[in-house]
Amino acid sequence: MTATSGSGMSANPIAELRHELRTPINHIVGYAEMLLEDAEGDEYTDRRAALEVTLNAAREAVALINASLPPTREAIDDRELTDLTKSFAAPQQRIREALEGLLAQPSVAADETLVDDLRKILSAADRLGTAVAPVGAGAGESAAATASVASASTPGPGAGPPGSGRILVVDDSADNRDMLSRRLEREGYQPVSAANGREALERIAGDNFDLVLLDVLMPEVDGYQVLEQLKDTPATRDIPVIMISALDDMPSIVRCIERGAEDFLPKPFDPVLLRARLSACLEKKRLRDAEKEYLEQVNEVIAAASAVESGDYHAGTLSAVARRDDELGRLARVFDGMVEHVRSREDRLRHQVDNLRAEVEAAREAREANGEAAAEATQLQTGQRFADRYEVIGTIGQGGMGMVYRAKDLELDEEVAIKTLRPEFVADESVLERFKTEIRLARRISHRNVVRIHDFGGSAGVDFLTMEYVEGLTVRQLLDQRGRLEISSTLALARQLAASLEVAHEQGVIHRDIKPQNLLVDGEGVLKVMDFGVARLAERTSGLTEVGLVVGTPSYMSPEQLLAEDIDGRSDLYAAGIVLYECLTGRLPFEAVAPVAMIAKVLSEVPAAPADVAEGVPPALSSLVMQLLAKDKDERVQSAGELMSQLEGL
Ligand code: ADP
Ligand code: MG
Repeated sequence: MTATSGSGMSANPIAELRHELRTPINHIVGYAEMLLEDAEGDEYTDRRAALEVTLNAAREAVALINASLPPTREAIDDRELTDLTKSFAAPQQRIREALEGLLAQPSVAADETLVDDLRKILSAADRLGTAVAPVGAGAGESAAATASVASASTPGPGAGPPGSGRILVVDDSADNRDMLSRRLEREGYQPVSAANGREALERIAGDNFDLVLLDVLMPEVDGYQVLEQLKDTPATRDIPVIMISALDDMPSIVRCIERGAEDFLPKPFDPVLLRARLSACLEKKRLRDAEKEYLEQVNEVIAAASAVESGDYHAGTLSAVARRDDELGRLARVFDGMVEHVRSREDRLRHQVDNLRAEVEAAREAREANGEAAAEATQLQTGQRFADRYEVIGTIGQGGMGMVYRAKDLELDEEVAIKTLRPEFVADESVLERFKTEIRLARRISHRNVVRIHDFGGSAGVDFLTMEYVEGLTVRQLLDQRGRLEISSTLALARQLAASLEVAHEQGVIHRDIKPQNLLVDGEGVLKVMDFGVARLAERTSGLTEVGLVVGTPSYMSPEQLLAEDIDGRSDLYAAGIVLYECLTGRLPFEAVAPVAMIAKVLSEVPAAPADVAEGVPPALSSLVMQLLAKDKDERVQSAGELMSQLEGL
């Protein structure tokens, strides 16, 4: 990397000397070229001739410097230097004659700015070869970097569109600043000038610039330091910097480029080259800005996605990005629309759950008012310690297979539900084995809509199952209380039921006994499906009568289940259809007093559609329920996932 650090003048005295000698020449060339550009047309032939003479003389002076003081030289003695400065006399004289002749013309003398500019050239010519300090030996090292002497060419036509952009011109020489600013203005840029490094940094901190033209050698804070600071500051790092300097030795150029300068133009710069580099730099800056904006907006979309996830996305956040007419804009618009859609769905869902919760509350109050009394023969007593681990709090309910108790798991200090199994179910070893296998599978289901099974065990001759205790009401209790449920509550229930069946079926677990008694709704309106896999215990090898006898009413059983045929997840979907039918209408699709009559109806009768039985059932929902109730399982909704998406489409 850079060998020299910090600030200060160039380490090479020859380079410095060349710089000093060339500074007045740069002024001459700069002004003369500008005036030449203004002097197009027949009436200005004289003016052009005088300016050409001036430019040629300036070029001759540059050639003299290059001849006796090439950048490769390491030192020069006083005599040589004196000879060099003396040799400037001839070109100096030619400039004076040409311009004084011009100033004598009345048309020229009347033009104040022109006179001003010509005087500036004359004063620069006077400075040629003056102010040169004697120089000792130095450490020149660079390869030849030939000065690019400004060609006197006027800008060709089609030299590029007029530029636009704020450009900061930093130079300690007022003439240089003036010259450059005027040139830039002509090209359509908006130049602002700074007389030294410190002023430059101040201006940049308080303003927006598209480009900085930076002189290298300046007192106090020099161009290197300004450059370094700009590139070290994130806010200004991307402003392109073009160095313009009469320092033309290779190490100086390399040093600038290494520190992040976009370009380096030796003075006197060629106006055509300056124009080309300016527009190239600005174009690059424009592209970079566009890219930066693009990335920022990509980040906005990403931030919006996380905001959606954490639930604090505000509509319209992406409106700026959405206005883009490219792919990103399209993405933002689609995203916004999707979020809007999801939000309104969530609102609807929340509303449905709220309704459900209200119904649960109302039903609970009514039950409490009626005074609940269901003390039956129990195997476990309140307060009893059971299986070395549980303390019985009380009974919860009476089920087909035994009692259910609320208990405290003393080991985990947590409430659980304990379901004891009546001895006749577990008498047969092979049935028990099958049951255990099923429970092992069911234990793997972890879903917010499924009551978690903890354990299976036996103690003091009582086989039991422990599971998550859910404080709530069963859909059976809800229906008994309210007759039927609201459409929105039914939909909320249906979605959660479908979600639970979807995960269970994925795990290979069929419920086999979906019915309102097995659907718990907690105080938050969250459905918890109980007894996944438990019904296995009630299944016997043979058909109808025994099943009917064991499970009780076959109201929720599918035809294939009643016929003891092979069953799969679609049987659960059928049962879900019956539950939804009941929720919507307050009635079962098939009703009969005797089980056998009921079974006959299930096998052969097509029930009336819910929409025909009850008021206000949406036809689409009604026909979805009928699809769940198809007797042929191939004609049903085929999976819980499909049920879910059909519900979502409603
Ligand atoms: P069924 O045979 O009707 O499905 P269960 O034996 O599964 O009956 O349960 C009887 C009743 O006990 C249920 O209807 C429910 O009210 C209650 N219950 C069962 N399991 C739990 C549990 N994990 N949390 C809370 N209550 C439960
Ligand atoms: Mg149950």
